[in-house]
Amino acid sequence: MEPDKARRQLVDYLLSGGYILSRRVQEAFESVPREKFVPEEYENKSYNDIPLPIGEGQTISAPSMIAIMLEVSDLVPGLRVLEIGTGSGYNACLIANIVGDGFVTSIERIESLFLRTRQIIENCGQKVITILGDGTLGWEKGAPYDRIIITAAAPNFPQPLIQQLACGGKIIAPVGARSGLQMLTVGTKLKDGSLSTNVYCACAFVPLLGTHGF
Ligand code: SAH
Repeated sequence: MEPDKARRQLVDYLLSGGYILSRRVQEAFESVPREKFVPEEYENKSYNDIPLPIGEGQTISAPSMIAIMLEVSDLVPGLRVLEIGTGSGYNACLIANIVGDGFVTSIERIESLFLRTRQIIENCGQKVITILGDGTLGWEKGAPYDRIIITAAAPNFPQPLIQQLACGGKIIAPVGARSGLQMLTVGTKLKDGSLSTNVYCACAFVPLLGTHGF
């Protein structure tokens, strides 16, 4: 099937399943070509609602999971967003599509993924700054962030990331066990610097490693 047609079918499925709730998330899924972000041997599965291997034991999440995460992240144009776990780069490009004139910075710890993905993002013409390093330490230079989105399973919200979050900003992560299930959790930073948290659904992500990870 043609990628454009497959992409439209996926969007219909995500809308009818209640995964996509907003026009902005819908338009991002319609605009970003998922087939460009998966390894060549999985290109024909790009628009199936399943996670796919991207090398180095890592995965690109299933589209429905990505849609849920983007919706709870409450993204609007102009926001400054930090993503931890660039992986394939697909989610970073969806975020960039939504925030438009805002800023997206994404950190990856595995060099081979970082190098491959940086090229793909460039080819897609999306405005994403990619950084190689330990994302649990954040990226002080770009702080404060309106949103920090961790796309790997975290034991809890890393302290440096809470510090780099703007007042009123949101931090989103699958929080829980290293293997097995986590709960998709959103923390909103209050005036006193503490977090008010909301827990959404169960999910299963690859682990967040590093200083404040597993
Ligand atoms: N957002 C990605 C999902 C990738 S899976 C996508 O759209 O494809 C999670 C990624 O987090 C993996 O690539 C893994 O290497 C990375 N990761 C794990 N711990 C990390 C850390 N401390 N800093 C940066 N990246 C990390």
